Amino acid sequence: MEIKITKTTTPKAKPDVSKVAFGTEFTDHMFMMDYTPEKGWHDARIVPFGNISLHPATTALHYGAEIFEGLKAYRTPEGKVQMFRPIENARRMNSSADRMCLPAIDENDMLQILETFVKVEKDWVPSAPATSLYLRPFMFGCDEHLGVHTVHHSVFMLIASPVGSYYKEGINPVKIMIEDQDVRAVKGGTGYTKCGGNYAASTRAGERAAQKGYSQVLWLDGVERKYIEEVGAMNVMFKIGGTVVTPMLSGSILPGITRKSCIDVLKKAGIPVEERLLSVDELVEAMENGTLEEAFGCGTAAVVSPIGELCYKDKKYTVNGGKIGPVTQQLYDTLTGIQWGTVEDTFGWVYPVD
Ligand SMILES: *Cc1c(COP(=O)(O)O)cnc(C)c1O
Repeated sequence: MEIKITKTTTPKAKPDVSKVAFGTEFTDHMFMMDYTPEKGWHDARIVPFGNISLHPATTALHYGAEIFEGLKAYRTPEGKVQMFRPIENARRMNSSADRMCLPAIDENDMLQILETFVKVEKDWVPSAPATSLYLRPFMFGCDEHLGVHTVHHSVFMLIASPVGSYYKEGINPVKIMIEDQDVRAVKGGTGYTKCGGNYAASTRAGERAAQKGYSQVLWLDGVERKYIEEVGAMNVMFKIGGTVVTPMLSGSILPGITRKSCIDVLKKAGIPVEERLLSVDELVEAMENGTLEEAFGCGTAAVVSPIGELCYKDKKYTVNGGKIGPVTQQLYDTLTGIQWGTVEDTFGWVYPVD
């Protein structure tokens, strides 16, 4: 694939990443390409970052045809830049695209786009410990009329945002509320895709939880409100009686790359891990009889996020004395070590860029 590069003539000053809020500063350029059934993907280009102009009838604005991905470029102590399992993001984006009737992107083209873009924005990959360049690929339907049908014209874009350390004051366990009213997704729906609509529908529960002092909600399944699914924008794992249990991928849960990586790291470390149905009753019982040893969310942004308190039907449970547990810490150290290039990557996950 040929990518035309037009560099900005007015590069911005790099921000102090220790002070920027997530996703508020963007690099100098962005990637764009268009799709039509006649021409396929075409006009791949890197251009100066800026606003885009859309017809008011643009499909995505009315019928929500939008999907995205999230991954990071990391700087190693030697000053090199690398990504973490980008092929997994390329595959998941295509799986989301398939569900939403948006066009697929060849995996190798996607890797080439990511790599070329990160090379152009190399100087934007920060080097302070635990900082990174967050990459946000996204795609939306761009037909200019109100008829409801499969999208014809689609746009794919990639923007990037330098991000500071997720844990500025050390790893603080979060408080999570188990949501028993709203649901995020159902089997057969779009729960397994990274689509904007999933987020729009989950905002209300998140807001309600925030008002009560909780940082995110833990979703239950959409049919029986019985089985644990995932947390806000993270998958979730519980260490119960020595075994790490995580909800199995059932179609309504986002198949997280961090989740998958945690499972592989745990298996390699000889820690038992089970992907299965986990009911909220089983979890409550484990909290009451003291067999719940650790709980944590996992996702690209935080890597792992220990859960220090869970609230279910107004009852509060403290997990591991409100502190990070040893397995959570081990996963954090291993994954961040591989991502930032301080721990040997024995899995073949790292994708060197420069
Ligand atoms: C992105 C996302 C995750 C985590 O996926 P990673 O690939 O690990 O970043 C989990 N749940 C939801 C709803 C997500 O959107």
